[in-house]
Amino acid sequence: MGISIFSHQPIKASDASLWIYCARRAWLDKQQPSTYVTDPFNQLLIDAGLEHEATILAKLKNQYPIIRAESFEHTLTLMQQGVPVIYQGRLFNESENLVGYPDFLIRHESGEYQPADAKLSLNENKKNIQIQLGIYRYLLGNQLPAIVFLGDGRTAFLGNEIDGIVDEFIADMRLLLDLQQQPAVRYSHSKCRVCPYHAQCLAEFKANEDPSLLYGIHGRATDHLADIGITTIAQLALCKIESLPDVPHLKGHQRKHRAILQAQSSLTNKVFQLNKAVLPEGTWIHFDIENNPLTQDRDQHVYLWGLLPPGYTRESFNYSWSDNESADYQGWLSFLQKIEAYRVQFTSVILAHYSNHEKATIKKYAKRYAMENHSTVTWLLGEDSPLFDLQKVVLDCLVLPLQSYSLKDICKHPNLVNFQWRNEESGSQWSIVQFHRFLSESSQIEKRKLKSAILDYNCDDVMATRQLEIWLRRFSL
Ligand code: SF4
Repeated sequence: MGISIFSHQPIKASDASLWIYCARRAWLDKQQPSTYVTDPFNQLLIDAGLEHEATILAKLKNQYPIIRAESFEHTLTLMQQGVPVIYQGRLFNESENLVGYPDFLIRHESGEYQPADAKLSLNENKKNIQIQLGIYRYLLGNQLPAIVFLGDGRTAFLGNEIDGIVDEFIADMRLLLDLQQQPAVRYSHSKCRVCPYHAQCLAEFKANEDPSLLYGIHGRATDHLADIGITTIAQLALCKIESLPDVPHLKGHQRKHRAILQAQSSLTNKVFQLNKAVLPEGTWIHFDIENNPLTQDRDQHVYLWGLLPPGYTRESFNYSWSDNESADYQGWLSFLQKIEAYRVQFTSVILAHYSNHEKATIKKYAKRYAMENHSTVTWLLGEDSPLFDLQKVVLDCLVLPLQSYSLKDICKHPNLVNFQWRNEESGSQWSIVQFHRFLSESSQIEKRKLKSAILDYNCDDVMATRQLEIWLRRFSL
């Protein structure tokens, strides 16, 4: 076991991610750690990270003798012995109350050690990576750059340029750990809804009627509103646009109007219409894709291109599926063929989707396969593109009593679209988890079941955008 060195909670290099995520979460994790079960998608990410680390370990083993460190003292001993690569090193600095666990410590020709981590990320400039690797450098106390073995096979180096952010992290964590009370923060729907402290924080935000609970109201805008005496949703709802000054993240007539209506909508559950919904004439086909970002080469693989043509029933659901990354190209071609067939079959095709993801993915695929000049692709991405983003219509025209304007939030709401997915647990991350089970499953029967569940989910997604289209038509008159 390690040396008993710390009289109180040490700051760990791995705390960087939580510190960036939310200062309160970093504080709560130290002061009142919550036990929670890792959800299947995050488990998938953890497993993929471990697999990447194992790949790097195997590569290093081919080049150097490697010894695994068992403790802080053992790490020191191995370093004194000059072991070429120390796996799972443990570093500490008692006076600074700092700890770091680099995946690898690699002996440089100078005799000093370089810290190295295997990261699934494709970008070494992410703040959490810079801080984590920077803490290892700080603990080693030399000038050698830290090494990052990235998810796309690249090796990146981080040197003195990251010292500033490391100092900021250490200073801020020290202040945080000295706090007797949890730090005051603002609500962020995307972060808070998946946080293990969600229930306790939400109760407090609701009790305070915190304006950051509203869709589109940034935490910093909430701070500035508080400075001018607007501290609750009810106060914001009573504001006049003209009396509301521009504050960061809430500037201009349109945004302020929307913010006030959003506050009113949240208090009354009313839908406010800002503009007439303009929906193009033509034959609507609903479109949604499922993609796996955790591929071997880290190029996303669209395993399902789902389409709902006229008929708009589960029986008319059509799709292009590929079993694995090696069939990616065939899946893409099959999708293009289906689109071309619809183009011939129907007049004025409208390919409706929710968010920019589908269009961005088509662009990526066209580039990946050098098919920017393919006739179907130029039609899909050209000036007369049939692609039509329903999310834009929602955001341009409506203010809804919701904290998130995701397809699911709008469609599932009983007073809005009121469309329910057959599988309540399903979602885009759920679909990726099922696809990974499909990939690793050897039984053909089980594989068929998994594929069928993913198809049902995607079919419900396009059925939902169809129901959203119908619901939006009432705002187009
Ligand atoms: S629920 Fe939100 S505010 Fe509370 S700790 Fe989590 S991320 Fe921070």
